[in-house]
Amino acid sequence: APVIGVLALQGDVREHLVALAAADAVAGPVRRPEELAEVDGLVIPGGESTTISKLAVLFGLMEPLRARVRAGMPVYGTCAGMIMLADKILDPRSGQETVGGIDMIVRRNAFGRQNESFEAAVEVKGVSGEPVEGVFIRAPWVESVGASAEVLAEHGGHIVAVRQGNALATSFHPELTGDHRMHRLFTDMVRADRRGESL
Ligand code: GLN
Repeated sequence: APVIGVLALQGDVREHLVALAAADAVAGPVRRPEELAEVDGLVIPGGESTTISKLAVLFGLMEPLRARVRAGMPVYGTCAGMIMLADKILDPRSGQETVGGIDMIVRRNAFGRQNESFEAAVEVKGVSGEPVEGVFIRAPWVESVGASAEVLAEHGGHIVAVRQGNALATSFHPELTGDHRMHRLFTDMVRADRRGESL
């Protein structure tokens, strides 16, 4: 089974560990560069992106994260994790950095101004069957994507799921729903990567 880490600096780490195990991955927390070196793929959870960014710098993880993502490690960011994977944030807080990896510009708390937290059915390209139940909590949306990024889902006219190569990002939190199809999509990406393919 693929070994998938969850970046465990802040945020809903435990829920992702449970969802990854349900999707047949061997899942464990990643807090140190040595732990990052051992995983086949990584989830960056929801939480607070400025806090995650500052802790990543403090723990000496920011550069190792950038290096592994640049080298093609499969990575999945949800909500704050999506923000961490954006090459550019529209409205960064001071000291806020990103890992990058997806040629997109995100707007933090974009849905939050109208409606702090809500659920909506989201049709995600690559996920068959019923729409995914999207849980949006002070969620970002993607303002725009570059040519190499593929839009996988939109909600209310805004981009909420994107993929670029081995990097996947959603505005919403599939780890909170008990529906593991997004985690299965990601573990399949990790499995394909281990076989030297891309999915
Ligand atoms: N609004 C948060 C941020 O800017 C993200 C919220 C979440 O991850 N649920 O990081």
